[in-house]
Amino acid sequence: MTEIIVGIDLGTTNSEVAIVRQGRVEVIPVAPGVRILPSLVGVADDGSLLVGEAARNQYALHPERSVRSIKRRMGEFTPVQMAGKDYSPQEISAMILRRLRDIAEAHLGQPVGKAVITVPAYFSDAQRQATREAGEIAGLEVVRIINEPTAAALAYESCHHGARKALVYDLGGGTFDVSVVNLESDVVEVLASHGNNHLGGDDFDQKLIAFATDHLRERHDIDVGQHPLAMARLQHAAEAAKIILSSEPYATLSEEYLLEKDGVPIHLSVEVSRNEYEEMIEPYIAETLDAVHIALSGAGLTVADINEILLVGGATRTPLIQRRLEQELGMQPRAEVDPDLCVAMGAAIQAAVIAGDQAPTVLIDVTPYTFGTSALEYFNGQMYPFCFVPLIRKNTPIPVSKSEGFCTIFDGQSKVDIHVYQGEDPDALNNIEIGRFTIEGLRDAPAGNPLVTTFSLDVNGILQVTSREKETGLVHSITIDNAISRFTGDKLAEARERIDGLFGGQEDAVQPSSGATSAEASSPTDDGRRLRVEAGALIEKAERLLAKAGTEDAEDLVNGIEAVKDRTDGSDTDLKAAMDALADLLYYLDV
Ligand code: AMP
Repeated sequence: MTEIIVGIDLGTTNSEVAIVRQGRVEVIPVAPGVRILPSLVGVADDGSLLVGEAARNQYALHPERSVRSIKRRMGEFTPVQMAGKDYSPQEISAMILRRLRDIAEAHLGQPVGKAVITVPAYFSDAQRQATREAGEIAGLEVVRIINEPTAAALAYESCHHGARKALVYDLGGGTFDVSVVNLESDVVEVLASHGNNHLGGDDFDQKLIAFATDHLRERHDIDVGQHPLAMARLQHAAEAAKIILSSEPYATLSEEYLLEKDGVPIHLSVEVSRNEYEEMIEPYIAETLDAVHIALSGAGLTVADINEILLVGGATRTPLIQRRLEQELGMQPRAEVDPDLCVAMGAAIQAAVIAGDQAPTVLIDVTPYTFGTSALEYFNGQMYPFCFVPLIRKNTPIPVSKSEGFCTIFDGQSKVDIHVYQGEDPDALNNIEIGRFTIEGLRDAPAGNPLVTTFSLDVNGILQVTSREKETGLVHSITIDNAISRFTGDKLAEARERIDGLFGGQEDAVQPSSGATSAEASSPTDDGRRLRVEAGALIEKAERLLAKAGTEDAEDLVNGIEAVKDRTDGSDTDLKAAMDALADLLYYLDV
């Protein structure tokens, strides 16, 4: 048996330990079902040492007995105080490493004496040396110190795909780094690195805390900032809400009995939408994108030279980050390796190679296609009812559940058709429709009545799509059994038959697409089908305006609507002419 060398990600906020066993990378649990150890240490009331979650829990109440973010102090000579005693940064880090070592030994049932530890690319020699010393104090021989972006690239196996350049975007709890790395025949070289040592997911929490404290001030005229215990609870509530907002369009910051005012208990319950939250954090994201460009120019490269973006750090699960990176760099970032664990996994892979094992592969189940629905949005400069809204993006690890908010588009709208597509095209009609249903009986509300649609995909390729009216909780859902299989040839025909069956077999204007790729999308059938879908949307809009129009306009509208309806079964040219006339009329009446 080869010797055991563990891989350790000694992070500012969290740390993890991983190992390669039987060719598989395993991140060792620090508690049942938990693989992340918060990088905090503390001294409890009874004088015992606390490491990890317990130290994190007492931090807000007893900061004088706790130490967090020690990584920021590595390489300094000034001691750190904890419960009235002085410790070197190496000693504090060693407490975290020692705990990880104990956890690994208990898990493996044998002694662990060697480790590969990761550090940020920008760490100086003094900081690297301090990390090595921390390992030794913890009883670990540090066989190698490797850069975090290098470890990430190893976990993503980027180096096995020939010479390439990757951008490693790492946003953790309290630090942000972006590195440009060159990958060539198993050698990973960091070309440039930039970042902010004091920017991370914790800042996002602070924005939500400020949102909740403002709410409590306005609603109850109370300053929570004066109550450390309440602030500690608020911190947890804010982080929980932030995490929910990564997969759902709304979250509620809630804490029962948060405080008392004049003997009356005060409960916190305030909803925040993803849109509001994204506005709050947008300046931080903009700052990280500036850093991306600085790192690129530091490496003497441009966006066009980058082959892939690798996401690292828990905060990169924030959808706005993924969206903005895609807009800025023109490619979908890779996020299939768990961003909290990928540095530890890379360290374990490096450790296995040093121990003489074959470099293992990180095995992950991902969805090979994007799944989404359609909505009325701007498309090529005009409103179009079949804009594709992806909910589960290609290469997302499964199982996964993602929700998105939608709104009704006209007053008193009592039902909404939900179409489910598989594909990558921004025009939903060029993707493959794999299911649809209608949510009916919506409350009588003005346009803008919110609905939440959720896509949940499991490892067996079963996709459940649920739509819920937010205010009433009314739900409707469907289950699609083989969502992951490619719908081609016979399967496509089968699927269409099945869908037709669900709709009583009648041909309506919105037939599922034939699965054409965008290159094939201009075939006459598709164009014709698209035209009829647009005609349907136009008629719907005209009929809504009809209710508000004066007599003369109403007459013109009715004629226009009839003309379009009459030509729906005729030639495309005639239909298009009638639609143009009706669109002109609508334009005139709408203003
Ligand atoms: P790390 O230092 O890489 O472990 O990242 C920790 C940060 O990621 C903390 O601020 C977490 O609150 C944040 N985080 C973890 N999961 C999520 C999520 N699903 N969405 C947004 N932030 C997250």
